[in-house]
Amino acid sequence: MPNDKKIILVTGASSGIGAAVAARLVREGHRVVAGARRTDRLDALAGRTAKEPGSLHPVRLDVTDRGDVEAFVRTACDRFGRVDAMVANAGIMPLSRLDALLVDEWDRMIDVNVRGLLYSIAAALPRFTAQDSGHFVTIASIGAREVTPTAAVYCGTKYAARAITEGLRQESAPSIRVTTVSPGVVASELADSITDPGAAAAMRDYRANAIDPDAIAGAVSYALAQPADVDVNEIVVRPAAQR
Ligand code: NDP
Repeated sequence: MPNDKKIILVTGASSGIGAAVAARLVREGHRVVAGARRTDRLDALAGRTAKEPGSLHPVRLDVTDRGDVEAFVRTACDRFGRVDAMVANAGIMPLSRLDALLVDEWDRMIDVNVRGLLYSIAAALPRFTAQDSGHFVTIASIGAREVTPTAAVYCGTKYAARAITEGLRQESAPSIRVTTVSPGVVASELADSITDPGAAAAMRDYRANAIDPDAIAGAVSYALAQPADVDVNEIVVRPAAQR
């Protein structure tokens, strides 16, 4: 399959990193099936990329609903006959200290960041196996490698995402490639979900050096562009100013 015509699914493509990944892949000539709950954002992205060499196909998707994720993959297969890659990017980050006991927010992070990833694997893996080819890319985080105060649960979900993705890599046939991309601080809407005032204030300083989401899109593009016998296992991309 020529590299410039892959069928690539991106979850959480309505803003931030997912939107940048989807837009870059469309610029590179791929057909991108873009999923998220805010379909108005996906439609706007399709409009902005309409003149690019590839194409963007919006699909309403809630990654916490297993049926939704299965339908997302099925839609791509029905339309294009195969799926070459899935970028599991959807995620939320409502940070808080554990003693704030924002248990509903812990549950939501586990649902989106962990269950959503598992449902994405469950939907894509049988297709990849049947095709004897595929590439699974997880957007984890530097929070998958180090823990900071207010981020215990978020980091827990990202450590899980990194572990699950590494397990997928180890268990997969060589025809199925698996990549973890772990960003540092990137400009996006991610911190908007923080309801805890202390965590929100700390994040404003922490995020001052945020880099453009296209830096992460470049890393995803690099991994996807490798020849079939080369698997980029893991990429960490931080702002140069981030320690
Ligand atoms: P944004 O908040 O800008 O984007 C998050 C995306 O996830 C949105 O498109 C949102 O779409 C989607 N999403 C959230 N919940 C669901 C759901 N239930 N079903 C489907 N889609 C969902 O943040 P980022 O772009 O920064 O985050 C993207 C990923 O990058 C996340 O996994 C995040 O953890 C990770 N990351 C981000 C970093 C950063 O500094 N920005 C650093 C390290 C990792 P919608 O609401 O329309 O459904």
